[in-house]
Amino acid sequence: MEAIKAPRGTRDVLGDESWKWAYVLKVCGEVARDFGYSEVLLPIFEHTELFSRGIGDATDVVEKEMYTFIDRGDRSITLRPELTASMVRSYLEHDMNRGPQPVKLWSSGPMFRYERPQKGRYRQFQQVDFEILGAANPLADLETIDTSMELYRRLGLTNLQVLINSVGCPKCRPIYREALKNFIADRLGEFCETCQSRFDRNPLRVLDCKKQGCRDLTESAPAMVDSLCDECRGHFDAVTSGLSRIGANDARVDNRLVRGLDYYTKTAYEILAGELGSQNAVCGGGRYDNLAEAIGGPHVPGVGFASGIERIVITMEGQGAHMGAAPAIDIYAVTASPGACTEVAALVHEIRAAGMSADMDYMNRAMRVQMKHASSTGARFVCIIGEDEIAAGTVGIKDMASGEQESSPRSGVVARLAEWKEVSK
Ligand code: AMP
Repeated sequence: MEAIKAPRGTRDVLGDESWKWAYVLKVCGEVARDFGYSEVLLPIFEHTELFSRGIGDATDVVEKEMYTFIDRGDRSITLRPELTASMVRSYLEHDMNRGPQPVKLWSSGPMFRYERPQKGRYRQFQQVDFEILGAANPLADLETIDTSMELYRRLGLTNLQVLINSVGCPKCRPIYREALKNFIADRLGEFCETCQSRFDRNPLRVLDCKKQGCRDLTESAPAMVDSLCDECRGHFDAVTSGLSRIGANDARVDNRLVRGLDYYTKTAYEILAGELGSQNAVCGGGRYDNLAEAIGGPHVPGVGFASGIERIVITMEGQGAHMGAAPAIDIYAVTASPGACTEVAALVHEIRAAGMSADMDYMNRAMRVQMKHASSTGARFVCIIGEDEIAAGTVGIKDMASGEQESSPRSGVVARLAEWKEVSK
């Protein structure tokens, strides 16, 4: 029988990488605290309607990428493809709109999209998401961009490119949509099949087609920023002129940036990292003033961003950013003669209770093999107990960094190790 493998587009994040994720999430939590976001833990599945109404029926995500199934209670359920719709649902469900505004929330966890897997693009991937709900002010847009930039600064990322655009609002977008359709219509037959199918349903997406032929054809397409209504124009100017104040001096207006999800209004932005190859966005965000209404709530303006943990880690590795060190055991206890194993286990127990990490052999291996294993675990100290040590009431301690060895009285050995650990920090 063939061995079962993980499904296509998913991956096991093993011990040599998972500690990096823990580090990134720790820094996310610190940034959230320092910027005043509170954490919400959201369900991994939601009613399908939340996404079909929130994200929009004509989007790639809803049309082609959702993991949707009927549960045993005959409900249509979807594994979440993103977090914003769930955040807004939770905000409304818990009447957060009735308390002081804005409400700043963050969350993280796995998302699911049936996409074509490649480097940096998976079918299950992890996002961290920050949202500000209840604030229409462009200062809130700037605050979310600042949050992402500070997160990347603390993670040691450099050379990131901020791209920004406005996708307008239901007042000015239809006018632009028509202007764009008129522009495309003349040469529609020359566009790729996907763009042709988008022409009626979602013509703005034609602008972000990656095919060179389509890009050439839209090179001189009208720009959304030239069609904005006064309100959207004022908002866009306020955001772009504030960017230098938050250190995003080299942010660039990108007329092609339309984002894949329907709920965006006004500001849309992405942050790119060269290390990522073709899937180069480390962060995507923007404003979504009509999302709450689309899912059946009152009007609630909102703005936020999501960033993929896999892509953050790939970028950090590519840039050699500091991530701390892989967790290693402080102390490995070696059993020098089989009769000493209970005493070794007791010592390991005491060491752990004193707040240090320790491990030992459970395989009855020869002492030489245990020493080799101890060194492969990265243990800083090795304790050795055999029948001789038990008889003498001592423990051998080897400092793996210096190679020095000493014999310590059994009664004081835990205190001695704690002292050494303190000094070697
Ligand atoms: P989006 O929700 O599409 O705006 O994506 C926000 C961020 O999530 C992107 O900038 C990526 O960092 C990450 N991301 C989106 N889709 C994927 C995917 N399929 N695999 C890995 N990361 C992803």
